[in-house]
Amino acid sequence: MDSGELCYTGAFSRQVTHVTDTAFSILPLPAAQLDNLDSLGYHKMTAIQAAALPVAMSGKDLIGQAMTGSGKTAAFALPLLARLNPRDFGTQALVLCPTRELAGQVASEIRRLARYQQNIKVVVLCGGQAIGPQIGSLEHGAHVVVGTPGRIKDHLRKQTLDLSRVNCVVLDEADRMLEMGFVEDMETIIGETPTARQTLLFSATFPSDIAAMSTRFQQQPERISVAALVQDEQIDQRFFICQPQDRLGGLAKMLGHYAPESAVVFCNTKQVVREVSAFLQQQ
Ligand code: AMP
Repeated sequence: MDSGELCYTGAFSRQVTHVTDTAFSILPLPAAQLDNLDSLGYHKMTAIQAAALPVAMSGKDLIGQAMTGSGKTAAFALPLLARLNPRDFGTQALVLCPTRELAGQVASEIRRLARYQQNIKVVVLCGGQAIGPQIGSLEHGAHVVVGTPGRIKDHLRKQTLDLSRVNCVVLDEADRMLEMGFVEDMETIIGETPTARQTLLFSATFPSDIAAMSTRFQQQPERISVAALVQDEQIDQRFFICQPQDRLGGLAKMLGHYAPESAVVFCNTKQVVREVSAFLQQQ
């Protein structure tokens, strides 16, 4: 690799944990849900699921340290769905996410996991989208609401969303919501839910303000921490500095140099995703 264009500034490795694989059938889930999980290819619980599900299914509050890709969505979606009353179209579960993208992913996963019972309605409420259709959707009732704090607060202000019957609140990627300055919105929103609710908080990191948030919103939570699912030496992180105009060329060089069997490229905007994929296809 030509180090004139790309500058390698260091490498470090991550922490380790063991995965404990366990059958979903040890959980108090209906047979139809077990069949649904099987049909989705979920044959064993992931580490975070094995640790979190027994606690969350028992109704306790929980702080889960887990990253995207760990299976954390099912760790909160299964207990939330198990408690729903499908005949009551009032909102019974609320999932707060930092971004529109995450809210969309979470809602899709909840819908997949809800397939075992009929008529479960999951509504996504995020900014950047027209509020009118969201209001229309809410008028027909929504068992589960997934959204970003800003837009959910807008609905509360307009009185188009009623959280008075919510029995489970999930704070997903809570550290990112704090970073994005959502703490006051979250306070307002959670203040609209009953105090006798279950609150599940998931975060990749545990800065002191997450502990403060937990104290504010949770009751005697159990803390579960599942770190990286790989051996200590397996992840070698490298950081390259390059000029903006050299990014694409640098990426191609890096892929050529390391020749990975498969790779994931993360970009910051949809436009950059299009640019990068067009460039790589051309190569
Ligand atoms: P998440 O971390 O929730 O975004 O999940 C990451 C991916 O793992 C998603 O594509 C899930 O559908 C999938 N997944 C979650 N739990 C399991 C499981 N127990 N077995 C197989 N795949 C799973």
